[in-house]
Amino acid sequence: MAANMTVGVVGLGAMGLGMAMSAVRAGFRTLGFDLSPARRDLARAEGVEPVDTLEAVFAADRIVFSLPTAQDVANVVDQVRDRLQTRGRIVVIDTSTSEPGVSRALAETLAGMGHGFLDAPVSGGPAGAAKGALTMMIGGATADLEDARPVIDALSAKAIHVGDSGAGNVAKLVNNLLCAAHMVTTAEGLRLAEAAGISAESTLAVLNAASGRSMLSEVHFPTWVMNEGFNSGFTMALMQKDVRLARKLAADTGTPMPLTEKAADLWVASPYGLTEDFTRMGDFRTKG
Ligand code: NAD
Repeated sequence: MAANMTVGVVGLGAMGLGMAMSAVRAGFRTLGFDLSPARRDLARAEGVEPVDTLEAVFAADRIVFSLPTAQDVANVVDQVRDRLQTRGRIVVIDTSTSEPGVSRALAETLAGMGHGFLDAPVSGGPAGAAKGALTMMIGGATADLEDARPVIDALSAKAIHVGDSGAGNVAKLVNNLLCAAHMVTTAEGLRLAEAAGISAESTLAVLNAASGRSMLSEVHFPTWVMNEGFNSGFTMALMQKDVRLARKLAADTGTPMPLTEKAADLWVASPYGLTEDFTRMGDFRTKG
């Protein structure tokens, strides 16, 4: 299957480059485009065929998007509208953390031209992207999913078809809202333990053998917080985007969420810069 399917990746950043590498490893001819020539050069070194224009990526049958925001996704589709109207069927696998409403609208527009569109946001970070071991949460039509399946299998260890278009983004925003809250609560717990005379290391060992644990305590704190590395590859800007979108979803659906609203407030008021790593928010050694 890989031999006769070409994959195009739009956005070769921390996540997109890793996904392109996983596609290459799975045997796909893989085209890649990024606005940044430096990212295109990095991709070339990994066996990706970088192209100089967005249009050129749309020579592929299956297109993976890994873009910062829903607005970027909508702009990209807009820019290639003419090309989409004249070419054979493609399926877009949008792995960006995007907005459910934007995904639904794009799926409808593309379906009108005979193409498929899946919202397929991911969890697992740059390391998971490079290993083809992401968790992917998918919204969209089953037929589009089946057409995209070989590529999804190459990028993910676990792919969950959550529901219709937009459902993947809803699940992702819920996931990241909880991830944001767990970062804050775990840091507060460790700060409390140290203030009470118990080391953060011992406390973390207890949490991870008891009911207070989460992926944050099991992976993020040991890997990026305890050693003050703060280099997971996911920026404050992107987490603040996710928190903002989750909060908008709550407002749109009239859902009360008093505790996670408070956590969201802390993320928005964070003293850390937009380009800093989001694991900074776990720094329990600061006063908080
Ligand atoms: P990034 O900023 O590292 O990469 C985004 C890339 O897109 C950049 O290289 C940028 O030059 C490129 N780009 C922007 N607009 C473009 C356009 N119009 N055409 C082509 N390229 C364009 O971001 P990232 O960390 O790789 O995140 C990408 C998406 O994945 C985001 O939606 C993010 O929320 C989501 N995500 C990130 C992580 C993570 O750990 N980094 C985890 C899960 C999901």
